[in-house]
Amino acid sequence: MTYVIDRADLGRLASQVAGPVLAPGDADYPAETATWNETLVERPAVVVGATSTADVQAAVRFAAANDLPVAAVATGHGAVVASDGAVMVNLRRLKDIVVDTPTRSATIGGAVTAQPLIDAAFPEGLAPLAGSSPNVGVVGYALGGGLSATLGRTYGWAADHVRSADIVTPDGELRHIDAAHEPDLFWAIRGGKGNFGVVTSLDLDLVPMTELYGGGIYFAGEHVEPVLDAFRRLVAASPQELTLSFAFMRLPDQPDVPEPLRDRFTVHVRVAYLGPPAEGERLIADLRATAPALIDTVTEMPYTGIAAIHQDPLDPVPTYEVSALLSDFPADAEQALIDVAGPDADTPAGMIEIRQLGGALGRDPSVPNAVGNRDAGFQLFGGAFGTGPGLAEQFRAPLAAISGALAPWSTGHQQANFLTGYDLAPDAVARAYEPDTYHRLREVKRSYDPRNLFRINHNIPPET
Ligand SMILES: Cc1cc2nc3c(=O)[nH]c(=O)nc-3n(C[C@H](O)[C@H](O)[C@H](O)COP(=O)(O)OP(=O)(O)OC[C@H]3O[C@@H](n4cnc5c(N)ncnc54)[C@H](O)[C@@H]3O)c2cc1C
Repeated sequence: MTYVIDRADLGRLASQVAGPVLAPGDADYPAETATWNETLVERPAVVVGATSTADVQAAVRFAAANDLPVAAVATGHGAVVASDGAVMVNLRRLKDIVVDTPTRSATIGGAVTAQPLIDAAFPEGLAPLAGSSPNVGVVGYALGGGLSATLGRTYGWAADHVRSADIVTPDGELRHIDAAHEPDLFWAIRGGKGNFGVVTSLDLDLVPMTELYGGGIYFAGEHVEPVLDAFRRLVAASPQELTLSFAFMRLPDQPDVPEPLRDRFTVHVRVAYLGPPAEGERLIADLRATAPALIDTVTEMPYTGIAAIHQDPLDPVPTYEVSALLSDFPADAEQALIDVAGPDADTPAGMIEIRQLGGALGRDPSVPNAVGNRDAGFQLFGGAFGTGPGLAEQFRAPLAAISGALAPWSTGHQQANFLTGYDLAPDAVARAYEPDTYHRLREVKRSYDPRNLFRINHNIPPET
C-alpha cells in the first residue's frame, strides 16, 4: 500500500518530535527504516526516530488521528511484516540502562540490546536472562517470551521476570503497568509481544551470575549420528543447570568463517552449564569422546562472553525461517532430521537447530502471563539466507519439509518469538498460545486497540 502523507501534516508532526521525521524520498529515510532482517524493503508512510517517550506518544497519536497502522522497530530482528503505509516508530535511540543492585533489577529503554545490558549488570555480579544473540532487542525478546539459551532452564522465561513496564498504548497515553496497575494489560504484553503498544521502558529481574562453563563444539558432518546420539544421552541425564542445543551448519566459503568450518556441513553442539566447571567437564566427557572436534570452545567463561556459545550472525542478513515445538527428540526424530537436513540432504537451510527446553521453562510464573506452550521438550528453529526476488516462495517448501519431517513429534504449537514470516495468518499466530490465552489476548486487544493499529507484527486481532 502506498500512502502519501501531506507535507504540512508531516511538518506538524516534526514540530512535536525531537528526533527525525522522514518520508519516502528523504535522504536519511532508507537508513532510518533499515531492519536487521533484510527480507523486506520497508516503505512506511513516515518514520519517526524517537528520542523519548514524548516522541513515541506524538508518533502514536499521529497514527491514531490518521487511522494508520504503527510499526514499532527496535533492531528489526523480527521484521517479517511489511510496514508499507504505516507510521514506523524507530526506537533504536532508547538505549538507557539503569542497574539497581540492591533490588537485583534493571530498567532499560525500549531498544536496549542484550550485550550492553549484560555488560552493565556484570560488574554488579548480576545477569539478565539473555537469549542467544547479543544484539537482539531485550524488550522485543522479553515481550515474546524470551528463551534464554543459558539461564532459561534454571530461571524460566524472560517474560516471567518482567516487573513493570512503561507503555504508550494505541490512544497515545503513557501507562506505567505492573501486577497491580492495569493487570490485564501487564499480563498480555508478557507473551503477547508488540500487539498492545510501544514499550518505552521495562523493569526486569537480574539474577546472580558471572561465570559459567560453556561454549560450542563443532564436529564434521560424517560424525552426525554418533554426535546426536551423544546429545540425546546427555539431554536425558542433564540437570536443569545444563542447557544444550545443536545446529546443523552450512557456512559459506568466506574469510570471516573459521577455516575448518568453511563450505562444509558441520554439527555445532552448544553447552551452557551453571554449576562447577569440573562437573560440567564430566557431564560432557561422553560427547567430547564421540568424535574429534573441529573446534571446541567449551570452557570456563564470563557471562559477558555468552554470544560465543551460539555464534549467531551479528550483521544484518535476509533470513527466511522455520520453527516448531517438539514434545520429544527420540532416535526416530534424529534420523528424520538427518534425512531432511543432514549432510546428504539437498536443502537451502544454512542453519537448523534443536534447542533443549524443560526445567524452569516448564513451570508457571509467580505472576501469570501470556507465555504459552510451556510443556514442550525441544524447539526446532532454523533458516535459509539469501538476497534476491522470489526467495520467500523458493524457500517455503524446503523449510516446511524440515518441520514436516518432525511433525510426528511436534506439539502443533510454536513459541511467539520464533513465529516466522510464513506464520502471519491469525490461525498461525494462535498456535503460539493455548486457546484460553489467545481468547483473553484478543479481549485485551479489543480494550486497548479496537482499531488494531498495532498490526505490523504477528498480529492478535481484537475480539469482535
Ligand atoms: C539471530 C536471532 C537470534 C534469536 N535468538 C533468540 C533467543 O535466543 N531467544 C528468543 O526468545 N528469541 C530469539 N530470537 C527472536 C527474537 O527474540 C525476536 O525476533 C524479537 O522479537 C526481536 O526483538 P527486536 O526488538 O530485536 O526486533 P524488532 O524486529 O525490532 O521487533 C520485533 C517485534 O517486537 C516488537 N517490539 C520490539 N521492541 C518493542 C518495544 N519496545 N515495544 C513494543 N514492541 C516492541 C516489534 O513491534 C516487533 O513486532 C532471535 C532472533 C534472531 C534473528
